[in-house]
Amino acid sequence: MTEKASRFLAINQATDLILKHKVDGLHVIPAAAFKLLRLSNDEQTNVTDLSQLIETEPALAAKVLRNVNSAAFALSHKITSIKRAVNILGFSAVRQLALNQLIYSKLIKHSSKKEFDQLFFWQHCLFVASLSRAIALALDHPEPDLMYCAGLMHDIGKIVLETHGKVSYSDFLLACKGDEQSTIKGEHDFFGLNHAEIGFVFCQQWDIPEQIAAIVYHHHDLPNDDSPYANYKADIAIVNFANYIAWMQGIGSTCINASPELHPEVSETLDIAQLDLEVLLGDVDKEMQHTREFYGIQFPSLNKLRATIIETALLLNNYNKSEDRSNFLPGSASVSSLTVPHKSLDPDEIVPWTLSAIQADFNFERLFFLDIKPRLRNLAPSFSCPEPLNKNILQRFSIKLDALPRTILNSLRERKAIVINASDKDNYKILQRFCVDEFLVVPVLTQNRLVALLYIDNDSNKRSILPHTISHISPIIHELGIALSNAKRFELEKKRAEQDGLTGLLNKRMVSEYLSATFQADKKQLSRVAVGFIDIDFFKKFNDSCGHQAGDDVLKIVAQIMRTLTRPSDFIGRYGGEEFVFVLHDTSAKGAYCYAERIRAEIERKGRILKQRFQGHALTISVGISLYDPKFKAYSQMIESADTAMYTAKLKGRNCIVIV
Ligand code: GH3
Ligand code: MG
Ligand code: MG
Repeated sequence: MTEKASRFLAINQATDLILKHKVDGLHVIPAAAFKLLRLSNDEQTNVTDLSQLIETEPALAAKVLRNVNSAAFALSHKITSIKRAVNILGFSAVRQLALNQLIYSKLIKHSSKKEFDQLFFWQHCLFVASLSRAIALALDHPEPDLMYCAGLMHDIGKIVLETHGKVSYSDFLLACKGDEQSTIKGEHDFFGLNHAEIGFVFCQQWDIPEQIAAIVYHHHDLPNDDSPYANYKADIAIVNFANYIAWMQGIGSTCINASPELHPEVSETLDIAQLDLEVLLGDVDKEMQHTREFYGIQFPSLNKLRATIIETALLLNNYNKSEDRSNFLPGSASVSSLTVPHKSLDPDEIVPWTLSAIQADFNFERLFFLDIKPRLRNLAPSFSCPEPLNKNILQRFSIKLDALPRTILNSLRERKAIVINASDKDNYKILQRFCVDEFLVVPVLTQNRLVALLYIDNDSNKRSILPHTISHISPIIHELGIALSNAKRFELEKKRAEQDGLTGLLNKRMVSEYLSATFQADKKQLSRVAVGFIDIDFFKKFNDSCGHQAGDDVLKIVAQIMRTLTRPSDFIGRYGGEEFVFVLHDTSAKGAYCYAERIRAEIERKGRILKQRFQGHALTISVGISLYDPKFKAYSQMIESADTAMYTAKLKGRNCIVIV
C-alpha cells in the first residue's frame, strides 16, 4: 500500500472511533443535498432536475415561490410553477439557495449546546462560499458555482463532529476556551483527527465530487506537488484565502479566536493583486443580505462581529504581555537579542545578527542555524556564530530528519526547546556525530510553521546549559520567527509589485524602469543596445476556441522560451496582454536579429508540437527591433520605435522579424 493510501485508511479508521455511528449511516445532510452537489452546471438538462428536487422539499418550494413573487421582481402575474421560478431567478442562484437550506436550515433547528453557535457557523460558511465564488469569477475560474459549493462545504467536518461525535464539537470548544493555539492542532490533540480530515472522509463516503473533497481536505494546508490533489491547488487556495478573510472580518466559524493560517503559498498560487477586495466584499455583502431575506433570519449583528474582532485583539495583546521580557533575561543579558531581529527585512542579516546578539548575551560557544528542508526532509546549516561554516561542519550538521533521535523529533512536534545530553540513551548517537556532550535545540517557527532549528552548544569549555536558559531563549526565537515571516512577506510583496503574476516575468512598470535606467548609460554603450517588441500572432484565437486557460498557457510557454534563450545580462519583461519586450546589451543589428530569430523559431517549433492541443492554430510571433538612435530624446522612443517595427512585421504577413 502507498503511504497516501495507508494515511487515508488510518483517517477512515480513526473516524469510526470518534463517531457514534459508522460514517455511511450518518444523516448529516439530506439526500437531496447530495444530488444538488453532484448536479453539473449544464443549465439545459438541470433546470428540470433542480425544479423536481425543490418540489419534493415543501419548505424550500414555498420560499422559492415567495421569492419570485416578491416585489423585487414586479411580475405582472403570480408564478406558481417551480420550473418557471427557477428560470426567472436563475439556475445558479436557486441552486445556491437550495443548497444552503438543505445543508444548514435543519441543523439550526436541532441546535445543541451554545459553544458551537450554529447560526454563527452557518453565516461563516455562507460568507466563505460567496467570497470563494466571487474570487473565482474575478480570476476567470471555469467553475465559480463549484467553488460556491466547496466554500459551503469546507467545514462540514465540524458539523459531523457536532452532530455525530461521541464527544461533540461543543465539548472541544469548551475544552480549549482561551487557548490561542491553532484550531487544527487543538482538534488533533482532542479528537486524534482534525475537521478537514473528517470532512474528507464524509465527502468520500458520500461520493461528493473529487474537487470539493480535495478542497475540504486541504483547506488549511495546500497539497504538495506529489499529492493526488495537486491539480486542485488553485481551487484550494481560493477557499483558504476566503476563509482567512472571513476570520479577519470577524466571521470566523466558531468562538475560537486563533487565526486560521493564510497559507504562504496562497499568494504564489493566486494573483491576489488582481482582486479588487472592496468590490468583492461589497458583492458578498449584498448576497448575504439576500440570503438573510430569503430565510427570514437574522444573523449576528455587525456589533457582534466587531466584538469578536476586539476580543481577538485583546487575546493577542494578553498573549504578548504574558511574556514579560524584562524578567526573562539574566543579569548579563541586554535586550538587544530581543530587538535585533527586527532591525532588518533581509534574512541574510536578521539571522546572523540575532545569533551574535544571543552569543553576546548568553556567552554560548557555538550557534548554528539549521534550515529544515521539507522536500529533502533534512536539516542544512545556513548560518553560524562565531566561526564561518567549514565543510566539515556543514557535513556533520546536514542530517536527515529521520536520523534524529526521538527526543529531538518530539521537541519539534511539540515546538518546544530541549537540552540534549547523555541522560537519555537515545541521544548517544547524535552526541557522537556532533562530537559534543550536550547541546540545546530551539525550533524556529514562522507563521506557525517549523522552518529551522537553532542549535547551541559549549563545545570546548563544556559549561553545561541550564534548563532555565530555555525560557530566556524562547522569546528571542519567537521574535526571530516573526521577523523572518515579516521578511518573507516583504519579499513577496516586493516581487508581486514587480512581477507579472502569470508568467513570472517582470511587468510593464519594471520594463519602463529598466529602459529608463538603461537610457542613462553613455552613448558608446547605448549604441550597442537593442530593444525588441514581441507580439503573439492571432492570440485571440487561442482564447476564443481553446479557452482562456489555453491562452494563459500560451503566454507561459512564450515567457519560458524567452527565459531559456536570453543571456543573464539581458532583460525580458511582459509589456501587456500578449506583448513582450526584450533589451539586449553589447549587441549589433545582426546579433539582435539572430537572438530574435532563435526565439521566433523555437516558439513556432513548440507550437507545432502542441498543434493538436491548440486545435490546429499555429503558434507564431511577430517581432520588431529597434537599435539605439542618437536622435532618441527619451527612453520611450526606443520602445515606440520597436512597436512600430513590430506592426510592420504584422503587415508583412506575421511570423517574421523587422528591424529598424
Ligand atoms: P494580432 O496577430 O493582430 O496581434 O492578433 P491578436 O489576436 O493576437 O491581437 P488582439 O490584440 O486582437 O488580441 C489580444 C487578446 O489577448 C485580447 C485579450 O483578450 C487577450 N489577453 C490579454 N491578456 C491576456 C491574458 O493574460 N490571458 C489571456 N488568456 N488572454 C489575454
Ligand atoms: Mg497579437
Ligand atoms: Mg496585441
